Amino acid sequence: RIAYELVDEIDHINAGGKVPLGLKGKSKRILVTGGAGFVGSHLVDRLIARGDSVIVVDNFFTGKKENLLHHFKNPRFELIRHDVVEPILLEVDQIYHLACPASPVHYKYNPVKTIKTNVMGTMNMLGLAKRVGARFLITSTSEVYGDPLQHPQAETYWGNVNPIGVRSCYDEGKRTAETLTMDYHRGLNIEVRIARIFNTYGPRMCIDDGRVVSNFVAQALRKEPMTVYGDGKQTRSFQFVSDLVEGLMRLMEGNHVGPFNLGNPGEFTMLELAKVVQETIDPNAKIEFRPNTEDDPHKRKPDITKAKQLLGWEPVVSLRQGLPMMVDDFRQRIFGDDKQDSG
Ligand code: NAD
Ligand code: UDP
Repeated sequence: RIAYELVDEIDHINAGGKVPLGLKGKSKRILVTGGAGFVGSHLVDRLIARGDSVIVVDNFFTGKKENLLHHFKNPRFELIRHDVVEPILLEVDQIYHLACPASPVHYKYNPVKTIKTNVMGTMNMLGLAKRVGARFLITSTSEVYGDPLQHPQAETYWGNVNPIGVRSCYDEGKRTAETLTMDYHRGLNIEVRIARIFNTYGPRMCIDDGRVVSNFVAQALRKEPMTVYGDGKQTRSFQFVSDLVEGLMRLMEGNHVGPFNLGNPGEFTMLELAKVVQETIDPNAKIEFRPNTEDDPHKRKPDITKAKQLLGWEPVVSLRQGLPMMVDDFRQRIFGDDKQDSG
């Protein structure tokens, strides 16, 4: 710890003494794996703004340097191209372990790699936490509940997951990652935190990642029909990314291991979502039905009572408020011109 404090001091001096000090008067050295991705890059923005030093480790499978370009000249920021399946030696106080593709299209692309990332990657990061005495937070998922038989889902529900299906590499991978996290905590006294994240959207999502919000927004902007899979009556609950980042930071800084559901309880069918996208982008946007994917969960909605009580957290951005912010970002990236009228 003394060594990190010294490094902090040196950074502080190198930066002309202008590094703002973090929480409790001391800036932290924080590792964010998967920090070049959608959620990770927003988290990095908040940590840097708070005054922490941030190291991002990412293999750029789905993440992009562009998401972090604005930090490149900051002496408190470092970006390392590295695959978490391999061990790495670093000195940090906290580890936010996000590295893992999140979109079904991406995690099914190489399912064995997805399992390796979740199992070996998580073991490596827990090993790192153990070596340096860092606090470790894992971003698990609502997918641990599978196709849930309990609605809404509370953290006490153990789930209904197919162990041999096409989504299992992700669902079972994250379940194993949670198990590893708890076993390192119980057996080796590592400080851990577990977040179960529900569907999240916002600026910087990959435009063509196949997730429903990014698909509908990109399709409506491009004047293509919005592809509704199945009958469109399946539900999801959509959380804006800034709410999630706030929840992750409260969880890390708080005193509770979790697991905690982090999601917005506002529940929408895919047809209702299509309607909100029409209202936001183009009332004439068409809908096209397509066959659904295998093992698609029928409904999903978080019970966030525990996070409200123990973290004092709940989402503040509704879908109708958050969607326009994502649309602005998609419009700029698709048309390269924020003034272009596409709707
Ligand atoms: P994302 O795909 O945008 O980001 C994942 C990042 O991890 C990318 O930058 C990618 O390049 C990196 N990565 C993947 N495999 C890696 C490896 N082996 N080594 C190093 N880096 C690797 O996804 P996201 O939406 O930002 O999700 C972040 C985390 O949150 C993931 O762990 C995901 O499972 C979890 N999560 C997200 C959602 C959501 O709706 N976005 C929902 C539930 C859980
Ligand atoms: N979906 C859809 N149209 C699309 C993409 C997805 O109707 O173009 C549906 C999908 O079948 C699922 C829901 O939207 O029921 C959410 O899918 P997504 O891939 O965004 O996330 P998931 O919650 O399944 O991980």
